[in-house]
Amino acid sequence: MPAKSTRRKSAPKSKRPAKPSRAAAEEAVRTLIRWAGDDPNREGLLATPSRVVRSYEEFFSGYTTDPVEQLQRTFEETDGYDEMVVLKDIRFESHCEHHMVPIIGRAHIAYLPDARVVGISKLARLVEVYARRLQIQEKMTAQIANTLSQVLRPKGVAVVVEAAHQCMTTRGVHKPGVTMITSHMLGAFRDDASTRREFLVHIGTLDSRNANV
Ligand SMILES: [Zn+2]
Repeated sequence: MPAKSTRRKSAPKSKRPAKPSRAAAEEAVRTLIRWAGDDPNREGLLATPSRVVRSYEEFFSGYTTDPVEQLQRTFEETDGYDEMVVLKDIRFESHCEHHMVPIIGRAHIAYLPDARVVGISKLARLVEVYARRLQIQEKMTAQIANTLSQVLRPKGVAVVVEAAHQCMTTRGVHKPGVTMITSHMLGAFRDDASTRREFLVHIGTLDSRNANV
């Protein structure tokens, strides 16, 4: 198969403090249960700390995956295809880094290939790698766009993320139904209004009948 991997090095990893033991993490959950006002030793809560820690392994598995490596396998045999590639409605679950409660939403990704394309499942994986970390939506949007741009070197990248933040819907100001939209446009999507418009029509943010407005 005519595939060629790119040889770009991943960004240097930021220094993180040593990972605590599983027992220490479970003890921290017991502390939070006591803080909430309950008894971690009552029967219904006995297995909760280990379940919470296992959930965290899933919620935050993005820390152990290299997003650049995820995209390494690219394809050059495209028969000259040089139109926009759009993957829309990629559902994701993340956690806000300020309250550690869920952010649930959808990401839309587009790029304008320059000789190379990438498997579409890799685009979905890219969203997942960044979603499964403690996040703010703005940063996640930029990370997805910048990584795709860095690895694939396309003529342009566009990322739009729409999400509901449970720190806003279930606590604090309690405003259910509010969605935050962020976008990050690079290359042709930033410089060329018609390319950007085509993308926004594809993802449904712009109505094609009004796309000239
Ligand atoms: Zn928050």
